Amino acid sequence: MNSAEALGALTLFQKEIIEFKNVIEIVSLCAHQKSVVRLVIPENKINAVTHILSTYFKEYYYSLATYALINVSFGPATTNYGSIDRFQKRVGVEKISGGDRVIFFGTDSGVNQALQMESGECNNLEASSIYGYPSCCALSYESIERGKSWMAACLGNVIGTIHLPALANRFSTLIGPQLGVHLDYFPCSIECQETISINTINRECLALSPLADFIKPINEHINATIIWWKGCLWYIKGAFTQDAQIFYRPLKPDIFPSSISSYATIEGLSYRENNAEVLVNGKWLSGDGENSPRIILFGGH
Ligand SMILES: [Zn+2]
Repeated sequence: MNSAEALGALTLFQKEIIEFKNVIEIVSLCAHQKSVVRLVIPENKINAVTHILSTYFKEYYYSLATYALINVSFGPATTNYGSIDRFQKRVGVEKISGGDRVIFFGTDSGVNQALQMESGECNNLEASSIYGYPSCCALSYESIERGKSWMAACLGNVIGTIHLPALANRFSTLIGPQLGVHLDYFPCSIECQETISINTINRECLALSPLADFIKPINEHINATIIWWKGCLWYIKGAFTQDAQIFYRPLKPDIFPSSISSYATIEGLSYRENNAEVLVNGKWLSGDGENSPRIILFGGH
């Protein structure tokens, strides 16, 4: 990635046209790890985006998809600042004004492949190979398309307390400042090894790019403890060092089902002998029962 490309990606991010995971997509493209990036952009920002792409990315091409996207529903989970999933459907550009447009951006052949695939009935497996996403994750995406929460899909196999490298933290971009090193897809499982390998390469590419200054705040943000319980997710930043900690104020979940009006709060967290427990209503709950909290400790580098 050269400095003009870095500035282009940063400009799109600072204008809040793209999210940080799209910045990582562009870093990966410019490090020749993938050949095309798919960006979903509100129609009223298309001119700004095409101007930035043609100004800063001299070696790359872009093309607009022939369809627009409109929202059909929002996912089952929300954060304090809104819904975290949107499900969209394609409509002919001539049929609506507004909505979102899709820009394919990358090498000549990458853009053409994406255009060709998305002009027909694209299946998830073919799409994943063009966008550089793991096939295991593409296959599991089908259950998310059928309405399952991606977080439930991603955490479905976790039992009790698990330790994972901080690089696997897919939840970091849902919580401010929304930094992370993953690409723009849902992993099949929080332990997906292919995702962890891709994220490792992404961080190496970022560290070698003019955007390397992001590495420190990313590391600070992705080292976190996640608690997943009753459809709610708590995001507690920082490596967990004490044996036990009682929170000054009980923690409300950061992500919660949009359908509920009340939820549990967590009063404390303890960690001993590789097992974490959470304090709820004055009782310590360990993670070994079927309806117990799932606790994921993201740490290390
Ligand atoms: Zn996977």
